[in-house]
Amino acid sequence: MDYFIEGLALGFDAIAFGLVYHSYRFKKSAIKSIENVQFVEVDQKLVDHVASEPSKKLDYVVVRGKVIALSSPIRSINAWNTYGVVQKLTTREHLVTRHNFVGFWSERERTIQEVYNSIPFALRSGSVDIEVADALSAHCLDLETISDVYEPISISLWDYIWGFFTGIRPQGLQKTEEMVREGVLLTGIGELALSEDKATLRLQPSQDGLPFFLTSLPLNTLTKRLEGEKQTLKYLSIVFGIIGVGIMGMMAHRWYRNRLAKKLEEEEHLRLEKARKERRQRARSNNHEYSDNELCVVCRENPKEIILLPCGHVCICEDCSNDVTNLCPVCRAEILSRNPAYIS
Ligand SMILES: [Zn+2]
Ligand SMILES: [Zn+2]
Repeated sequence: MDYFIEGLALGFDAIAFGLVYHSYRFKKSAIKSIENVQFVEVDQKLVDHVASEPSKKLDYVVVRGKVIALSSPIRSINAWNTYGVVQKLTTREHLVTRHNFVGFWSERERTIQEVYNSIPFALRSGSVDIEVADALSAHCLDLETISDVYEPISISLWDYIWGFFTGIRPQGLQKTEEMVREGVLLTGIGELALSEDKATLRLQPSQDGLPFFLTSLPLNTLTKRLEGEKQTLKYLSIVFGIIGVGIMGMMAHRWYRNRLAKKLEEEEHLRLEKARKERRQRARSNNHEYSDNELCVVCRENPKEIILLPCGHVCICEDCSNDVTNLCPVCRAEILSRNPAYIS
């Protein structure tokens, strides 16, 4: 329990650092892969070119084309006459929550629903269509916001009272519709393979784990964006790293201070013990003849020097006190504490 708070903070920091650093590494390798991407001219010759490859595919290429639906397109639920091939519907709840203990209310939002719809589509360049497989698994899939509506919830007196007890008061719902519209230009980066029918091409996630991109941005703008994100993640990693080192430093400092204090305490204890022993020794060697009932009942050699509590018997010497552990040798009462007794 000693380092509970620091340990907890260190745990959270380590998780944050891990996540941020992992994304940083991912962005870095994504940028590197894009630098080595193969540019291909999308035309009829490309089909023959892929077909001539022994593996019937090109490892990592960039293609750009117009989005064409390969079955009946998805119709937007919010915008008239808008059709697309991927649709994302998100419902977010805005609420205020009360922080217990502190008592103030703060705004917060949470996603309560997220739905994706998609249909098969292709990127058309000239007369060639490249079918896009598994678009939803793309590491980056740029969607266009079609509508973003916020509806406040009017709350009744009852809700108000209920909210007072639960500490949660709903404010409103935000409904967002995003789409990849038909007809927009998309840049696709991935693996280009020959379809089963051997006449068309398919862009799909790379089997080597290289990132799959479907973005409306041209390649150099995409690289710039990734570069910016990479930089931010790098600074965040550094910040979390420094915080982690700081917490560990604090823990080490506290541990060292505790150890030092303990050591000093022990030394002090030993010093006092030694001084007392010496005092006793001097008192014993005073050539004083002790009468029988002044002598320790255990060793019959040293004077009685210790009072046992709670029974109150002064019956043993300091040396024997180390051997007599739990019961008084005179009355057999349990010894709860013992103190030096000075009889003058
Ligand atoms: Zn004794
Ligand atoms: Zn006793």
